[in-house]
Amino acid sequence: MQPLEQQPVLLLIDDSPMIHRLLTFKLKNEGIEFLSAFSASEGLELAASNRPALILLDLHLPDQNGLTALLSFKNDPRTIDLPVIMLSGDTDPANKVRAFELGAMDYVTKPFDIHELRARIQSAIRVHTLMHMLEKRAQIDGLTGLWNRAHFNERLSTELDQSKRNKTEMSLIICDLDHFKKVNDTFGHPAGDAVLQSFAKVLTTELRSYDVACRYGGEEFAIILPDAGPPASLAICERIRKAIEAKRWPNYPNIRATASFGLTDRGLDSGQTPEAWVAAADKCLYDSKQSGRNRVTTYATSGQAPRLAIAG
Ligand code: GH3
Ligand code: MG
Ligand code: MG
Repeated sequence: MQPLEQQPVLLLIDDSPMIHRLLTFKLKNEGIEFLSAFSASEGLELAASNRPALILLDLHLPDQNGLTALLSFKNDPRTIDLPVIMLSGDTDPANKVRAFELGAMDYVTKPFDIHELRARIQSAIRVHTLMHMLEKRAQIDGLTGLWNRAHFNERLSTELDQSKRNKTEMSLIICDLDHFKKVNDTFGHPAGDAVLQSFAKVLTTELRSYDVACRYGGEEFAIILPDAGPPASLAICERIRKAIEAKRWPNYPNIRATASFGLTDRGLDSGQTPEAWVAAADKCLYDSKQSGRNRVTTYATSGQAPRLAIAG
């Protein structure tokens, strides 16, 4: 979804070349650019590959009824979230009602007033941008600014699917601050919060931009590492572990924080469920805690049978 400040690119799906010429010409000065499709199938492909800020969809198309096309957009994960305004010469209220039921954001009847259409386009883009921002905000943890657990659950499934489909490596880290209750009890809750925020900062500094760092719960974090197998993911864990161990807090000079890590990778078995991945990483984390904390335990799968390897 493009923010309003950027030039929005709209997709116009209409079989009339005259409508394409009219809108392109009239809205060019407003900074609105158009992608053009003349059939539903062409429109669906363009929408999926270009992800326009908004789709203007004609009700009467040569290959499909516009309402059927709208249903296809709302059933395709690549286009489900794109806002759609229906355009039609048909004023039948039943069609309007059906379009809204199927998820259209607005319905404009032809012949349209260009100023009104422009206002409706801008309003639809604004509403959609706000909805998108709210959805994103609902998946961010307030204290650390990392993704929250709801986002993690969704994301682990999609990243696992992608890794299976593309046959790429993938790793999952679950880590937990050591004796964190003692930090709170000794230095107070605000000091504990500062440690959690610093730990989040360490994660974002040490991770690659496409890694997914999440606050899993209290003082527990989960990190999805797409395209990273055992040697690289183990090195990342070690970097994070050392960075938090070395960290000092100017306002609380006596705090020493460490973390324990559980790491698992895709070699485990490409058929495993997200829950099995979390359970495997959790088991490794448990072993890190049991064997002394401030260490990384990996579910090493490079050999014939899975075995636990401990670093730290
Ligand atoms: P272990 O090494 O076994 O993980 O011990 P621990 O003390 O870290 O684990 P425990 O589960 O006993 O305690 C976790 C503590 O984390 C207790 C809870 O008050 C604290 N905590 C959870 N969320 C927050 C938070 O948002 N802020 C602060 N300051 N503390 C939190
Ligand atoms: Mg802990
Ligand atoms: Mg814990």
